Amino acid sequence: MSEQNSLIHSEIDFDREGKQTGFLRLPYSVHRSAYGWIPVPIVMFKNGSGPTALLMSGNHGDEYEGQIALTKLSQDLGPGDITGRLIILPMANYPAAHDGLRTSPFDGGNLNRSFPGDATGTPTQMMAHYIEEVLLPQCDYFFDLHSGGSSLRYPATVLRGRGDTAEQEAALEALQMSFDAPFGFIFGGRGEPRVSSAAARRKGVLSLTTELGGAGTVTPEILALAERGVQRLLHHIGLLPGHEPDATRGMRKMELTGPDYFVYARDEGLFEPYVELLTEIKKGQAAGAIHHPETPWVEPTICHFEHDGLTICQRIPARVQRGDCLFHLATNI
Ligand SMILES: [Zn+2]
Repeated sequence: MSEQNSLIHSEIDFDREGKQTGFLRLPYSVHRSAYGWIPVPIVMFKNGSGPTALLMSGNHGDEYEGQIALTKLSQDLGPGDITGRLIILPMANYPAAHDGLRTSPFDGGNLNRSFPGDATGTPTQMMAHYIEEVLLPQCDYFFDLHSGGSSLRYPATVLRGRGDTAEQEAALEALQMSFDAPFGFIFGGRGEPRVSSAAARRKGVLSLTTELGGAGTVTPEILALAERGVQRLLHHIGLLPGHEPDATRGMRKMELTGPDYFVYARDEGLFEPYVELLTEIKKGQAAGAIHHPETPWVEPTICHFEHDGLTICQRIPARVQRGDCLFHLATNI
């Protein structure tokens, strides 16, 4: 296997059978450690021939649901449970995940805005390059587990883009249904080229992402949905043949469309939301008020929804600056 000029060294052998654990060694020469490396944890199960899937979390380090679900999965699975190959990367942007931050404290890098990356760039760019050029070309499937992180909250959702062909569209639809989250969103258009799902598309790998809660915490309900969904997915693609999925509960399918389905803060101050997550909204409805306690005699700034839809993403911290996302609407397909 070519490592495509990557300077990252894998302690595991991607061709070896069985369970392997170790680190991707990302060279990082700094004052306290001249020849040091960043230890990006990796687990791999391989058993005979079958599909290869990459399961990833910690792309954003303050999104904890996926990191816990994949850590538990790494311990619960044995190589005999798998037919094919499963690569698990629970802390993809390790410096960010270590510090519980969305972006890396080493270089400020947002891994999910860094694809296709750079083999000789910053640590975050080197990691993006490794995922796109070394890991994804070995894969048939890619699942990147996100959540709302520190600043946002979502219900348990599973997201996908549209397939390039009718066959791909059907495969993506079946994958998304197999996760059986309460909500399933479809992105319109080709979207942002710097995210992991765009990297997967460039490599011809079928991919899903999730948004599983957030708000800088973990809830038992959403974590259970995350673990259940991952097992169902792996069973669906044939990697986990012995798993017996329980009855499907049904998924509400919705679409994520243009930028004017977001409500952004138009001023700085303290945001008072007028509606909750998962509220049916009518065009023109007020989303909330931004108050100005520094100048309490100034009238609040009222923000409005520009479309009908369902609030599926809500800002958590009340302190806002102009340009912060307050709400996002999804629409029925
Ligand atoms: Zn994320």
